[in-house]
Amino acid sequence: MSEQIHNVAIIGGGVCGTALLYLLAEYSDVDDIVLIEKYDGVAKVNSHGRNNSQTLHCGDIETNYTLEKASKVKSAAEMIVNYTETLDKRDTVIFKYPKMVIGVGEEECQRLRERFEIFKDRFSTMQLLEKEEIAKIEPSVVMVDGELRPEPCIALAVLDEYCAVDFNQLSESFVSQALQLDKALTLKFNSQVEEIVHKEGIFHINTQEQSIKARSVVVSAGGHSLLLAQQMGHGLEFSCLPVAGSFYFTPKVLNGKVYTVQNDNLPFAAVHGDPDVLVDGKTRFGPTALLLPLLERYNIGTFFEFLRVLRLDSKVLKVFWDLFKVSDIRNYILKNFLFEVPGLRCWLFLKDARKIVPSLTLKDIEFAKGFGGVRPQLIDKKQSKLMLGEAKINPGNGIIFNMTPSPGASSCLANAELDMRLIVDYLGGKIDEHKLQQSLHK
Ligand SMILES: Cc1cc2nc3c(=O)[nH]c(=O)nc-3n(C[C@H](O)[C@H](O)[C@H](O)COP(=O)(O)OP(=O)(O)OC[C@H]3O[C@@H](n4cnc5c(N)ncnc54)[C@H](O)[C@@H]3O)c2cc1C
Repeated sequence: MSEQIHNVAIIGGGVCGTALLYLLAEYSDVDDIVLIEKYDGVAKVNSHGRNNSQTLHCGDIETNYTLEKASKVKSAAEMIVNYTETLDKRDTVIFKYPKMVIGVGEEECQRLRERFEIFKDRFSTMQLLEKEEIAKIEPSVVMVDGELRPEPCIALAVLDEYCAVDFNQLSESFVSQALQLDKALTLKFNSQVEEIVHKEGIFHINTQEQSIKARSVVVSAGGHSLLLAQQMGHGLEFSCLPVAGSFYFTPKVLNGKVYTVQNDNLPFAAVHGDPDVLVDGKTRFGPTALLLPLLERYNIGTFFEFLRVLRLDSKVLKVFWDLFKVSDIRNYILKNFLFEVPGLRCWLFLKDARKIVPSLTLKDIEFAKGFGGVRPQLIDKKQSKLMLGEAKINPGNGIIFNMTPSPGASSCLANAELDMRLIVDYLGGKIDEHKLQQSLHK
């Protein structure tokens, strides 16, 4: 058993864990950090480019965000843009495309016009495009058989900004940037943490092979963070609802990202069409939102872990019941189950995709096999409420647990900064505030 006691252990080598490794190494005086990951490399789960939508969420085209939430998300996204500025291989990490959210029909168009008035000052590059202007950027969105589509249609667009990220490449870059610094960093791959025990001020992190000791711990292990927290008696007021997302490919019909207006009753992002930074010559549509009893999309072994974090009781059942009572949500959940039925799914999905590209036909659509991830959405059992966005459990004794559904990858540096502050404070270390402001918050 190793006697070494690390200052910080980070569990989970996704984009959130690796962002923290980088921030601590680059901007704090904390030394001796260990990153523990169960797979043989970083970003193999939700942060892999295949498994998320690759969107750098800036809050402008996501109609489920208020101006306040959008402003927060924008600042977080800007940290990623600033970080990548000095990377040698920046063009393999972050990408520029035109992006827009389209309103289809009178009601959605009106909503977007009102949104434009509220957002245009904070989002100064945002433009309101009428149908003819959309046609110049995304012809397939408004043209059918050489004619403009008949319904009213407008878009809020940002045409020349970074809006897509390969979060796998970003994670790799965090690690390689951190390793170039003069710090004691240890990477432990193929090490699945089974339990964490807190004894006499030290955390004992037990994998099958060894026990790793640390003074402080940050767990960024997706849905597994809640599992590890609950084993230690923390976060018992939460349950986890895994919401899987699948994708569909079509031939390349879009030049950039095209989002749709969200239905306020539906807690998950509406379907969008995107270029895939990993697959040339295609457009990727999705994600769907399927309630799936797994903590990892293609890992059946995580079924039992799901049962442990579900902690099914009357309070969880009440949240399910409240969701099911709303007909829009009920129909949406059922439709998303059908999206998984081979033979039926492409036909059903076509209707959603046609809102974005009306000329698509069944033969254009193909299920993106092996693509998609799971958003670990939390249920707050005390308030009987489904929580959206990221969640943090911080018992205040040197360990933090992060659960990071969308837009968790876009806010990885902002969230890691919060954790860095908590950990550095706990260990009595220092942050180079000047350097941090100059490079990430300029
Ligand atoms: C369909 C879909 C679309 C999305 N689209 C976007 C998007 O466009 N933009 C955006 O910003 N976000 C998006 N997200 C969210 C984004 O993918 C996540 O917020 C982000 O990847 C979370 O990063 P993470 O590091 O917390 O988790 P992960 O990337 O899941 O990493 C967790 C790591 O912990 C490891 N781990 C787990 N358990 C253990 C253990 N016991 N011991 C050791 N290691 C362990 C895992 O192997 C994994 O490497 C999307 C998510 C989904 C599912």
